[in-house]
Amino acid sequence: MANANPANPPVVVIGAGIVGMCTASFLQRDGHKVVVLDPGAPGEGTSFGNAGCLNGSSVVPVSMPGTLAKVPGWLLDPLGPLAIRWRYLPVLLPWLWRFVQAGKPEKVQAQARALRALLGPSLETYRPLVKAAGAENLIHRAGHLAAYKSEASFAADAGAEQLRRDNGVAIQELDADELRQLEPHLSRDYIRGRLISENGHCSNPLRLTQSLAEAFVRNGGEIRRERAEGFTFGGARVTAVITSAGSVPASAVVLAAGAWSKSLAAKLGDRVPLDTERGYHIMLKTPEVAPRIPTLAAEGKFMATPMDEGLRFAGTVEFAGLDAPPDWRRARILLQQGQAMYPGLAREVPEARLTQWMGFRPSLPDSLPVIGPSQRYANAFHAFGHGHVGLVGGSMTGRVTADLVAGRPAAIDVAPFSVTRFG
Ligand SMILES: Cc1cc2nc3c(=O)[nH]c(=O)nc-3n(C[C@H](O)[C@H](O)[C@H](O)COP(=O)(O)OP(=O)(O)OC[C@H]3O[C@@H](n4cnc5c(N)ncnc54)[C@H](O)[C@@H]3O)c2cc1C
Repeated sequence: MANANPANPPVVVIGAGIVGMCTASFLQRDGHKVVVLDPGAPGEGTSFGNAGCLNGSSVVPVSMPGTLAKVPGWLLDPLGPLAIRWRYLPVLLPWLWRFVQAGKPEKVQAQARALRALLGPSLETYRPLVKAAGAENLIHRAGHLAAYKSEASFAADAGAEQLRRDNGVAIQELDADELRQLEPHLSRDYIRGRLISENGHCSNPLRLTQSLAEAFVRNGGEIRRERAEGFTFGGARVTAVITSAGSVPASAVVLAAGAWSKSLAAKLGDRVPLDTERGYHIMLKTPEVAPRIPTLAAEGKFMATPMDEGLRFAGTVEFAGLDAPPDWRRARILLQQGQAMYPGLAREVPEARLTQWMGFRPSLPDSLPVIGPSQRYANAFHAFGHGHVGLVGGSMTGRVTADLVAGRPAAIDVAPFSVTRFG
């Protein structure tokens, strides 16, 4: 079996989502033998159905001063962007407590700086991987638009916009006419906009992860359909990953299992307050009209993204854990709101033109992923918890994790992402 030579064990990456595949690709470029473990096919976790935004501008943490005050209104609105399954609330409370603490102004400034370093260089960091994978056609750099229905909500976002500007993001403010010129199909209900030209998008996120996986295998990497279940240790090092099918010897281990990383992190000695913000999408094949660039409905807090296979409305946050079944009404709400956003879309849509999806954002309360060494084992590294920004953050996470495995100084300061921040 390839890579089974005990004298020269591979680096083992747990999880074949966008974060795991970026990491495996950069490790391979460094000359390592790499084995990726995943019980599913590459890219079929949360990386399957996101909104495709490669938004290096996404430095605004989810918990901000004032977020808490908006929560009751969001929860009371059946079309609102937030839902909690009340049975899940007791489990969620410690996470929510940390979430509220993370929204203090001085913490938010530090989180935004850390996010900018991780996300800002996303497109250029993806470039060599995407080129080698022959996937350049999936990546577009045409900007992002946020569209607002009222001057009041436009003004209410001023704090977030200032945080972006403070971190070097250029933002163009648009009036109703300029909005119309940029996106003629947008409903006239939208009267203000903010355009961020530096951002890009991926027009088929599943295909991107698959392309990276195919290139990785072509170059000698191995992907095994096995679930990681634990580890074997020798002193302060991990020596193997125990899987559903046996054991894989490891010179180093990277934990990149997205929302499913918590119990494996615990087995490495790290207690991490990882939970999941579930999100939904609905895709409309052959839409009558579509936006030119990814467009945020600022009040509804969902994205409309032109994808290769149709128009995708994606968003919403639902707290219900990893096991509760999807509530497909939330996907249908996105369709309803999307149709109002683009009045040129047909109201009656045959089911054959629709697909819907739910995914599990891997979310830490401070909106920062966990990247860096485990506290106990020198050759075990974390690369999970990217919440709303795993697609845009995947490339730099992969690059710095390869730096850490190699013992090189990391391309960016990884201290803000350390697992030690949870005590
Ligand atoms: C509605 C929605 C919209 C979003 N929009 C955007 C966006 O526009 N831009 C953006 O940057 N991000 C966005 N995100 C977030 C982004 O999709 C995630 O942050 C990202 O996909 C996480 O990638 P990952 O590789 O960490 O996790 P995943 O893609 O979930 O991959 C983890 C993998 O680990 C595997 N795994 C689980 N347990 C084990 C185990 N025990 N052993 C081995 N493997 C295991 C799983 O099978 C899975 O394949 C969005 C998310 C949602 C839900």
